[in-house]
Amino acid sequence: MHELKVLGHLNLDTSCEFSFNYQGLSFSQSSFQLFPGLCAVDNQQNVVSVFSELQKLKIQCARMGAYKPRTSPYSFQGLREQCLSYVFEQAGKHDIRIIAMEVMHERHIDAIYKHLQLSGFATGVMLQVGTRNTQNYELLKAIGAQNNFPVLFKRGFGISLNESLQAAEYIAAAGNDNIIFCLRGIKPSLDHQHRNFVDFSQVPIVKRLVKIPVGIDPSHAVGNLVKSSDGITDLFHSCAQGIISGANLALVDIHPTPNKALVDSEQALNFKQLETLLLDIEITRKAYLSRLENQGV
Ligand code: PEP
Ligand code: MN
Repeated sequence: MHELKVLGHLNLDTSCEFSFNYQGLSFSQSSFQLFPGLCAVDNQQNVVSVFSELQKLKIQCARMGAYKPRTSPYSFQGLREQCLSYVFEQAGKHDIRIIAMEVMHERHIDAIYKHLQLSGFATGVMLQVGTRNTQNYELLKAIGAQNNFPVLFKRGFGISLNESLQAAEYIAAAGNDNIIFCLRGIKPSLDHQHRNFVDFSQVPIVKRLVKIPVGIDPSHAVGNLVKSSDGITDLFHSCAQGIISGANLALVDIHPTPNKALVDSEQALNFKQLETLLLDIEITRKAYLSRLENQGV
């Protein structure tokens, strides 16, 4: 077993559980929150449709991609600042308290703050650091230097777990401990069944190394909706594997009409599939809590 080098701010303190509150919701290694939503915002109508569905399901957290990091410069880059005002306004109208939104540059944080302010702080935002920016240290320092927003930090796809954890420490060292460390798979070299090699078996490892909550992104890890012989999609199986091991957050791509999504259409769930996932998560989360009870925890 490889021991992790000293981290600093993010070190696990077994004498007391770390937690933070944001927008009336609590995040810790005991909590669980689901963040379903659009990988990329494409139009206002779809934003309203997603928020209405989440409100119906009593879900108060969502993901919304405005700034999209794309492999090709010719692919859709996201609606960027253009969509922020209606995303925040509609979130407020539909009782959505937190939106996870990726930022790739310090000025994106300023744009988000400006539009939130214009909306009268109708909702909250969790700044997402994408896997391509895990080691963008200047961005991490800028995110760490502000305390308006908590952070959803994705692990790097081609670096060690230790390197990703040290990168997360940059944010904490700069002044912001309100971080969720999110597993999203690593670059596959031996197995191409999934978009990434699913790393959710590392949920318990990260939880014993650092104090912060640990999330999973089964959509970007698996990257498709292919079913196994039992009729359950690999995406649902992977999500369950993370949750039964104690994951504290799940980020899931959904879309009103997945085949029309401009980004990652092959992995987006439709609303009916989201309802099935919700029940599946309820079953798995309960199973995790029963497993704790069985250990006398
Ligand atoms: C995303 O969540 O939209 C995303 C781009 O994820 P990742 O950075 O993990 O690829
Ligand atoms: Mn995506």
